[in-house]
Amino acid sequence: LLTARGIRKAFGDHEVLRGVDLDVRRGQVVALIGPSGSGKTTMLRSLNGLETPSAGTLEVSGGPALDFSRPVTQRERHALRDRSAMVFQQHNLFPHMTVLQNVMEGPVQVRRVPRAQAQQRALELLDRVGLADKRDAYPRQLSGGQQQRVGIVRALALSPDLLLFDEPTSALDPELVGEVLTVMKELAEEGWTMVVVTHELSFARAVADEVLFLDGGVVLERGAPAQIFSAPREERTRQFLHRLL
Ligand code: ATP
Repeated sequence: LLTARGIRKAFGDHEVLRGVDLDVRRGQVVALIGPSGSGKTTMLRSLNGLETPSAGTLEVSGGPALDFSRPVTQRERHALRDRSAMVFQQHNLFPHMTVLQNVMEGPVQVRRVPRAQAQQRALELLDRVGLADKRDAYPRQLSGGQQQRVGIVRALALSPDLLLFDEPTSALDPELVGEVLTVMKELAEEGWTMVVVTHELSFARAVADEVLFLDGGVVLERGAPAQIFSAPREERTRQFLHRLL
């Protein structure tokens, strides 16, 4: 579903990504882990056009094959963005809109889905994450965990081929983390294709099909969770896991 080769990104003279390859097959969950500043978020944002890499190639879900060594057109950027949906660290819900309006906004405004159809789909999805009764609430009336579940529903409502998660639980109080991870686990079981930047190593271990350890803008090690977590090959990976586990 996704093939990225040699992705590089510099901010000024700071090279944040130094040639990252990533392959994601349909239905797969790939977790990006690694120390702060290793480039995880920048890599994730590159996958849907929120960042434009300085070099490398990227193809998502049969869309245009982008080569970042030449300028990317607006059209290519839109085509890339339309194939995935991102769940952010902070849910970024519109405060002046109800839960239902928040979920319908993308499909109606961006994807031009008819309102009635968008509403029906939004209500189904809210029901699936146990928030049907909150349809008319405003974001501030919800707990952080509920807000983040709405953030996930909002991404699902776009019917993307690929779901991107950028540390979706790291801004939550510890007691609210579980409900969000449970929803993500259910999505993985339902067969959604997901790339997840996370510090929740037990989640990565239980849910991911492949784990990539980023360090200093390169993938230092990649493999099945059992291998990465139980028998890391690299000393840096071992040190990182040791600090967090
Ligand atoms: P964290 O776990 O802390 O989120 P990360 O691995 O996701 O870290 P990134 O957020 O990708 O790392 O950031 C990598 C580096 O790039 C950091 O040093 C950061 O300061 C820098 N960086 C990110 N975005 C920008 C930007 N827009 N302009 C300048 N520097 C940036």
